[in-house]
Amino acid sequence: MAHDDENTQEFETIQTHEELIRWSRAYCSRAVSSYDFAVSLRLVRWDVSTRAKRRAAAVKTPTVDGTTVGKRVDWASRSVGDDATAPPCTMSLSWRAFEAFDRDEWTSILRHELVHVEQFQAFGATDHGSAFKRRADAVNAPVRVRRFAEPKYILTCADCGSDIAYRYRDCKLVRESSAYRSACCEASLDCRTNDEKTNPR
Ligand SMILES: [Zn+2]
Ligand SMILES: [Zn+2]
Repeated sequence: MAHDDENTQEFETIQTHEELIRWSRAYCSRAVSSYDFAVSLRLVRWDVSTRAKRRAAAVKTPTVDGTTVGKRVDWASRSVGDDATAPPCTMSLSWRAFEAFDRDEWTSILRHELVHVEQFQAFGATDHGSAFKRRADAVNAPVRVRRFAEPKYILTCADCGSDIAYRYRDCKLVRESSAYRSACCEASLDCRTNDEKTNPR
């Protein structure tokens, strides 16, 4: 376990969707063993949403008729998956949430989603009911994932004014925005804070 993170990129250096997926998948694989999730990650697909503005992550599952949380599904008797397993579900990660949350909060969200995957693979259904609450407590995950705020910083192209990036945390791009160039116009970046909008929507 000591060299568990050897090949894992630092969370703070993630820059692409692929890196976010790779990092999150690697974390989940460690979490499955350390928290004893009854989850088969082989049956989990991954994507990154750049459009999700409120949900940090979501597990998208196919609808399986006649299922309910707490009632185990005999997958072999249903021809929905291969090898008598649950059908695949998709872990959809929000890029904006990744930017908004620090590593600890991000991993707690992944554990929350793993509880959904665990329920789905066992029951063919998942919810936020009392069984979910007990399980979330046991794996130190929130029952409700907080919605993430509007970005604190908005970086725009100094030439054409289009939005280039959003940042939720202070970072090098924010501190030294004028040192960067926009891809659209090769112009410097303007950085403004979004502080006055404390209660968006
Ligand atoms: Zn949930
Ligand atoms: Zn531009």
